[in-house]
Amino acid sequence: MKFYNTLTKKKEEFVPLVPGKVSMYVCGPTVYNLIHIGNARPMIVFDTARRYMEHRGYEVNYVSNFTDVDDKIIAKANEEGISAQEVASRYIEECKKDMADMNVRPATTHPLATREIPGMIEMISALIEKGYAYDVEGTVYFRTRKFKEYGKLSHKNLDDLRGGNRSLLVTGEEQKEDPLDFVLWKPKKEGEPYWESPWSQGRPGWHIECSVMAKKYLGEEIDIHAGGEDLVFPHHENEIAQSECCNGKPFARYWLHNAFLNIDNKKMSKSLGNFFTVRDIKEKYDLQVLRFFMLSAHYRSPLNFSAELMEASKNALERIVNAVDNLKFLQENAGTKEMTGEEQKALEEVKAFETKFDEAMDDDLNTADAISVIFELVKFANTRVSGENSAAFIKAVREEILKLGDILGLILEKKEEVLEADIEKMIEERQAARKAKDFARADEIRARLLDMGIELLDTREGVKWKRV
Ligand code: AMP
Ligand code: ZN
Repeated sequence: MKFYNTLTKKKEEFVPLVPGKVSMYVCGPTVYNLIHIGNARPMIVFDTARRYMEHRGYEVNYVSNFTDVDDKIIAKANEEGISAQEVASRYIEECKKDMADMNVRPATTHPLATREIPGMIEMISALIEKGYAYDVEGTVYFRTRKFKEYGKLSHKNLDDLRGGNRSLLVTGEEQKEDPLDFVLWKPKKEGEPYWESPWSQGRPGWHIECSVMAKKYLGEEIDIHAGGEDLVFPHHENEIAQSECCNGKPFARYWLHNAFLNIDNKKMSKSLGNFFTVRDIKEKYDLQVLRFFMLSAHYRSPLNFSAELMEASKNALERIVNAVDNLKFLQENAGTKEMTGEEQKALEEVKAFETKFDEAMDDDLNTADAISVIFELVKFANTRVSGENSAAFIKAVREEILKLGDILGLILEKKEEVLEADIEKMIEERQAARKAKDFARADEIRARLLDMGIELLDTREGVKWKRV
């Protein structure tokens, strides 16, 4: 299995620190709004990496944070007259719903920055003690030049940085020893959330959050650190500086970065206003289509979003889903005869598709080629499987397609239609449970219906439902 490592600028064979185990940290979103489909790209791409490594037998400890304290969150809270914490927890919940709809599995741990402040104070104190950080009137800065390897990830030269970085000096940061120094801790402004620290009542800088959460949940040295390519500099460069100076060890061995999702060849971003939220897309498409669209390109290639490509993805995905559904029909109607020798042989061909799929994924997660292999398998199914085959053979072909889909996180089975009669029946059951004061059961039915895309509304006239 090879990954392109931003640190070495090479595709490298993946060798984990502990055989059979992978520790992986993916920088998560800042939660002040619904996520847009640009944010969804790293989620889908690295969830797929995780699934593939699990398919190859690794046990993956996957950590992805939520940045739940930040200027933008505070601004939103002030706008709405609620606390920053309320804003953050609302959008964390919304983000988790979007992840579930995109079939992005929850991380092993989703740490929240605001719950890890003691760890941050500890790391900042250690950096000050070692001479890598200094406090000026309550603001703590990292002494960038003291870390001789600074720039090794983004392949930037310190002096070039210095020449072009007057803009790095933000107002209020004039007290820095060097313009390259960055903030580890900053004092609160009026009305902002804050924590006590040895330096001031304030809050951590963004970079220190990830260094601390990675260390706490994965250890001082980790296998893979990932995120979008805009994070290479300064975020990941600064994480390396903090972690390596504090721990005295190399931080992450493989640095993986996805390219941007663009629109009209410009990065999709909140600040440019050229974005679609995942929720916008859900109004028109099953989010499996979005996932398919993302994986149809290699993760290190820029991907341009367009209505045409989404339609093409929808049609392509439908072709696979229909083939699987057809196999299901054939399987259900096949007799009970044994698998023939010829079928046994044909199954070897089917297995060869999996080998080819693995080869594509081994080559720095080439999902585009992996999807092509699924299409080859679909073609095999459409041309070589018929009602004449044994149920066991048909099942094996169908399960192979489902298996490869699942590695990419694509659900290829047709969703069962939910019938109105079934919904009414479940609503009756829920009403009966409520009458009997079995509220746990009532809530369970409500949640099950929600999973099926049915939302219940308790109104004065009784229970109503709608598809969501
Ligand atoms: P943010 O909430 O801006 O910190 O972003 C969360 C994650 O989404 C980071 O890994 C970003 O690199 C990534 N990201 C943001 N915008 C895009 C985009 N247009 N294309 C790909 N990744 C993005
Ligand atoms: Zn981070």
